[in-house]
Amino acid sequence: MRKILIPVFAIALLSSCETTKVVTKEKGNAQPTSKVLSKSEKAFQSAYNEIKLDDLKKNLYVIASDEMEGRDTGSPGQKKAGEYMINFYKEHGISFPKALGSYYQKVPSTFMQQRGGRNLPDSENILAFIEGSEKPDEIVVVSGHYDHVGTKNGVVYNGADDDGSGTVAVMEIAKAFQSAKKAGNGPKRSVLFLHVTGEEHGLFGSEYYTDNPVFPLANTVVDLNIDMIGRDDPENRGKSYVYVIGSEMLSSQLKVINEAANRKTNNLELNYRYDDPNDPDRLYYRSDHYNFAKNNIPVAFFFDGIHEDYHKPTDDVEKIDFSLLQKRAQLVFTIAWEIANRPERITVDKK
Ligand SMILES: [Zn+2]
Repeated sequence: MRKILIPVFAIALLSSCETTKVVTKEKGNAQPTSKVLSKSEKAFQSAYNEIKLDDLKKNLYVIASDEMEGRDTGSPGQKKAGEYMINFYKEHGISFPKALGSYYQKVPSTFMQQRGGRNLPDSENILAFIEGSEKPDEIVVVSGHYDHVGTKNGVVYNGADDDGSGTVAVMEIAKAFQSAKKAGNGPKRSVLFLHVTGEEHGLFGSEYYTDNPVFPLANTVVDLNIDMIGRDDPENRGKSYVYVIGSEMLSSQLKVINEAANRKTNNLELNYRYDDPNDPDRLYYRSDHYNFAKNNIPVAFFFDGIHEDYHKPTDDVEKIDFSLLQKRAQLVFTIAWEIANRPERITVDKK
């Protein structure tokens, strides 16, 4: 999650987005299961069960270790974390977008410096990809940034929650989709697992991606962005909740889908407190989903709140609530599954 605030022009752009509450219910949503599971429901359940607490833990203990030196954009530590992620994808037989030729999308130093990223070296977004079986040209994006703020005065800022938690969740969601694919139940639409860089310095990796998309933005159905989902904030201590931001801005269907997915799974409290572009904390503008939203792509941003270790060297893996991290990752997986498999693409019907 980015610390500093986003430029004011964004306010004008989105000031007309007064949200109207969606009251309609849709057919075709995931419904609570009956005793006899359909084939597609069985496929969902077995993929869902692949999102494992122990795997999230194992991966986060590496991603948020001192060896990764706080994963500052373009640093050797960040590159090492990226290699670990790529090895994970290789081990699970998950490839990259063909057009890219590798898992890396280079984000040039010049691009970041032009936008105020002082002295940042070249860095990379990391993209893993599962092609859809029926509508491969329609792309569901699941994103999270894998950079953090590095090392200051010899102290490593491990960024276990920010955004190690989102990084390992995206990996685990990819693994779940891949297990479905191996069983012959791969997603109908394609799913892009997008690990962006440069977030903490100004959402640079996601801006670079949306300026230089590997798949046309017109074919990009949604961005489900995960940035900090492994902790709780003081207001929600001990609760099973997640903040959801932006889901009503562009598509009236997305919030309905999210809520149905949530009822069907862990029934977290979906907290909409920050879900307002005019909120003083301006969270709608402060993570990578914003670069999709500004291109008229529906987004939902999943977030645990501002807690006492936010952007401190004490954002450590020992403080992660892995059970909560697992539940939130399962929710995002369930939403991605629904959006990737439903007959009709979700529509943009709001401005
Ligand atoms: Zn941050």
